[in-house]
Amino acid sequence: MINQDIPAIRRLPSLVANQIAAGEVVERPASVVKELLENSLDAQATQIEIEIEQGGIALIRIRDNGFGIRKEELLLALSRHATNKISSLEDLEQLNSLGFRGEALASIAAISRLTLNSRFHNQEMGYGIHLDGREQPTIPEPIAHPIGTTLEVRDLFYNTPARRRFLRTDKTEFGHVHEMIKRLALSCFNVSFKLTHNHKTLMALKIAQPEADKLQRVGMLCGPEFIDHILTVQADCGGMQLSGWITQPTYSRSQPDMQYFFVNGRIIRDKLLNHAVRQAYEDVLHLSRYPGYVLYLQLDPREVDVNVHPTKNEVRFVQSSAVYQFLVHSLQNSLANTCPNQVGSPTS
Ligand code: ADP
Ligand code: MG
Repeated sequence: MINQDIPAIRRLPSLVANQIAAGEVVERPASVVKELLENSLDAQATQIEIEIEQGGIALIRIRDNGFGIRKEELLLALSRHATNKISSLEDLEQLNSLGFRGEALASIAAISRLTLNSRFHNQEMGYGIHLDGREQPTIPEPIAHPIGTTLEVRDLFYNTPARRRFLRTDKTEFGHVHEMIKRLALSCFNVSFKLTHNHKTLMALKIAQPEADKLQRVGMLCGPEFIDHILTVQADCGGMQLSGWITQPTYSRSQPDMQYFFVNGRIIRDKLLNHAVRQAYEDVLHLSRYPGYVLYLQLDPREVDVNVHPTKNEVRFVQSSAVYQFLVHSLQNSLANTCPNQVGSPTS
């Protein structure tokens, strides 16, 4: 028997659609931090300040000195499918930016109280808009702001209680935020980062240009023991370049917690890459132990599909077996090298 009371098909209000989309991109405060930092990097920022309160649940404020957003584009930046990074599917093939989906700000705005303040690099004034759970943001108001952008995200998930219940303690959430910032700080040495949690400064990284400075940053982020045991990786084959550092077999960990892999500047988690590293260490490290690594793979953007998942943590390689072989051989070569403490040269 069919129930007669069948609802009509309706288009969802955009706020609801954005809240649903947010479910895919924003799992916890660390996901907001990732999206905002990627936007700052895409805006060519060289200085980024991150303020966190209560693990990021109460406040995430990210200030950058990037090129900023034009007054007339502020509202657009908060709407879904609005981006200045691609304009066609072909652009995705040549992607140089971290973002491209035009979804993050709209999603974050739908599940928090968001303020966007920005001054475009050739405009005299800054402008700010605010949104808290309504369909429409406030109209842009003039504000004093240096060139660049400040995004403030308060009360994450305040209007999506089911999501909020999944949050852990402030301490745990901050741990995830800290780890995310660490990863991004390893992806770009030409940017300074400052991090405060509950008004305490926890990280202050200067721009690291010379090789020695890069290694110092790696040491600050991965610990002195890590850099006391590193081997340099530098390899080039068929348009692919691999650089960075791996640990000697004398250093190992019980968990894979010191492993960072970047593909064209993007932090990636990938089974193929993990497996290649395992394979390279096969004869020198017990299977129950994990090596540490900070590796940067550069290849033609057409050889890698970044549009696999909304969080952009996964990629697909067109020639996965060639990538695999290249990684295994390059890492085995470095492991055969007995000279530790050399400085590697990551790509950025
Ligand atoms: P995407 O990064 O995929 O383009 P987002 O929703 O993250 O989508 O951002 C939307 C747009 O807002 C970006 O394309 C960019 O033009 C602008 N934007 C966001 N954050 C910044 C920033 N920190 N500096 C300059 N522009 C920004
Ligand atoms: Mg983005």
